Amino acid sequence: MVATHKISIHNTPASRLPSVDFSNLPFGKVYTDHMLIADYHHGAWQSVRIVPYGHISISPASPALHYGQSIFEGMKAYRNERGEALVFRPLDNWKRLNRSAERMCLPEVPEELFMQGLQTLIELDRNWIPDVPGSSLYIRPFLFSADEYIGIRPSENFTFMIILSPVGPYYSTPVKVCIETHFTRAVRGGTGYAKAGGNYGGAIYPAKLAQDRGYHQLIWTDGIEHKYVEESGTMNVMFVKENSLITPALNDSILAGITRDSVIQMARYWNMPVEERKISVEELINGLRDHSITEAFGAGTAATIAHIELIGYEGTDYHLPPVEKRDFSNRVLLALDEIKRGHAPDPFGWVHLF
Ligand SMILES: *Cc1c(COP(=O)(O)O)cnc(C)c1O
Repeated sequence: MVATHKISIHNTPASRLPSVDFSNLPFGKVYTDHMLIADYHHGAWQSVRIVPYGHISISPASPALHYGQSIFEGMKAYRNERGEALVFRPLDNWKRLNRSAERMCLPEVPEELFMQGLQTLIELDRNWIPDVPGSSLYIRPFLFSADEYIGIRPSENFTFMIILSPVGPYYSTPVKVCIETHFTRAVRGGTGYAKAGGNYGGAIYPAKLAQDRGYHQLIWTDGIEHKYVEESGTMNVMFVKENSLITPALNDSILAGITRDSVIQMARYWNMPVEERKISVEELINGLRDHSITEAFGAGTAATIAHIELIGYEGTDYHLPPVEKRDFSNRVLLALDEIKRGHAPDPFGWVHLF
């Protein structure tokens, strides 16, 4: 049974589009004319609506504010020559949203609500999708508790929203990262596999300390022994070692990135060996010392493929080869970009045309 939602639309009286400089877009500061909102009351999603982008009102007693009962997603849309909107793997984001929702006691968002809401919103704000190379429309769905109750218990009322932001590149240069062996992002049994707000709030301080020392980001290690590599900031981390792609195997403290999965599928498609397994800090440092690790990069929707320039560990910076020499990461970055923009065939059926 497919339940369809009647989506009411309240158009903005005056588009802000003419005021946006698309040749000079920052990341995440510009929002489009409209946003989607849906309310969950009495066990059902209702009043799905698109309204002009703007502030919302929320109870000061909302558990989203007090206890972080809030999750989000991130995906991107591109525009092809025919003016159609191409969204990369939205059903995978929908599935992950619902995995996060389960962990945080938030209600499932039905596929129809997610996809119809997305389609209607994107159709309305289609002209906001940048067609400048390196730019795209970042899509941010999120879901939070809208109860008015400061006791700690599963909530009954919720809000689901989607906002859109035209964005330029996340990082403008290759990134400098350092291995974190004191602070923890996520631990076994925790919420690391969910895109839950609190995971990110708690990660800002350790990242800031690294930034004060000249790094862009951290490489998180496991929360128990700080011996195994997990992720880099809000990206999955991947390496090329002796012509194999190696990346930490998924567990409940690692976010299952859709970019990570896309890179793995591309590598296998090109007959490159892929190893998803534990990678110890010791193996990583040895591989950087003896140059058996030739490439390192972060993988995520916002940053796409972020080349890692150097990795700091115990006071030493280990440099990777120059970016021009990194065959795999350059090739996969380009190949994914061509698929996402509709410039190359899509053998995996990843692109959703709206
Ligand atoms: C979102 C996210 C990623 C990347 O996931 P994608 O689906 O590729 O965008 C990786 N790690 C963390 C912690 C994240 O929040």
